[in-house]
Amino acid sequence: MILIRKASFLNNHIARQRGNGLTTGFVPTMGALHDAHISLINHSASVCDVTVCSIFVNPTQFNDPNDYNKYPDRLENDLRMLSNTRVSVIFVPPVYEIYSEGTTGLEHYDLGYLETILEGKFRPGHFQGVCQVMSRLLKAVQPDRLFMGQKDYQQCMVVKKLLSLLNMDTSLEALPTLRDTDGLAMSSRNLRLTAEQRAKAPLIFQVLTEIKSKLAPGNLDQLKHDATKRLDSGGFKVEYVEIANAENLHPVSNWNGNTPLVALVAAFMGEVRLIDNMLLNN
Ligand code: AMP
Repeated sequence: MILIRKASFLNNHIARQRGNGLTTGFVPTMGALHDAHISLINHSASVCDVTVCSIFVNPTQFNDPNDYNKYPDRLENDLRMLSNTRVSVIFVPPVYEIYSEGTTGLEHYDLGYLETILEGKFRPGHFQGVCQVMSRLLKAVQPDRLFMGQKDYQQCMVVKKLLSLLNMDTSLEALPTLRDTDGLAMSSRNLRLTAEQRAKAPLIFQVLTEIKSKLAPGNLDQLKHDATKRLDSGGFKVEYVEIANAENLHPVSNWNGNTPLVALVAAFMGEVRLIDNMLLNN
C-alpha cells in the first residue's frame, strides 16, 4: 500500500502497472471512511489487480459552504482502516493538485435532464462539481473499472454520463447500499448527528421500506404524501420524496406495474442532510 499526493506520480505509477498487464479498479471517496467504503475497496481488490482509493473532499461539489467546512476530516483513522484492506494505492491530493487552475471559471458539463431534478435541483452546481473532480481523478487514474455506491443513485447516473462525455471506456459498477443494523444507510455525514438525531434517522429506511411494501399499480401520489408526512412528524425537514423510473429518474405518478422504480429521499435531520433510496420492484 502506497500513499501518493501528486496526480502525475499516480498517473506514472498506474501506467507502469498497466504496462505489466495489470488491471486497475478505482474507488473515489471523500474520506471519513466507514464499512461501505471498505466494502467497495474489497470488492475492487477481489476483481482487479490494482485498487486505487482516493480521499479528497471536493470543494466544488458543495453548494453549502457550511457543509464543506464541517465535512469530517479523519485521515489518520482512514489510513488505519485502509491498512487492513488490499488497497494498493491511496491517493490524497491537496486541493491545488486537483484544481491547479483554481476553482472558478471551470468547464461546464452538459448533463441535461439529470441535473435539473432531485439532487440537481436542490443542490445547484453540485453535479458540475462532481464532474469537475471525477474528470480530473479519472484522468489521473485511468481505471479499467470504477466502483461507486448505489446510495448515491443519481450520482452514479451522472458519472456514467460523464464517462460517455469523456469518451472513456472505464466501466462503472454501482454496488448495493450498506446499512447499519437499524437500517440507516452508512454515511460519513452520520458522524455529525447527535445521539438523539441518530436515534431518529433510521426513519428514512422505514419509510422507504413502507413505500416498497405498499407499492401497487396506479397512482403513487398518496404513497409519496404519506411518506413525507411520516418523515416530517419524525423530526425531518424533507426536501423530496420521489418515486421515479429507475433507468432515467423521470418521476412516475401512475405506475403501470412494469416500469422499474426507485424511491428517493433527501431530508435534513437538524443541520445534517441525509439521502437514501430503494429499488422498489427489482
Ligand atoms: P463519499 O465518501 O460519501 O463520497 O462516498 C464514496 C463512495 O462510497 C461513493 O461511491 C458512495 O456512493 C459510496 N457509499 C457511501 N455510502 C455508501 C453506503 N452506505 N453504501 C454503499 N456505498 C456507499
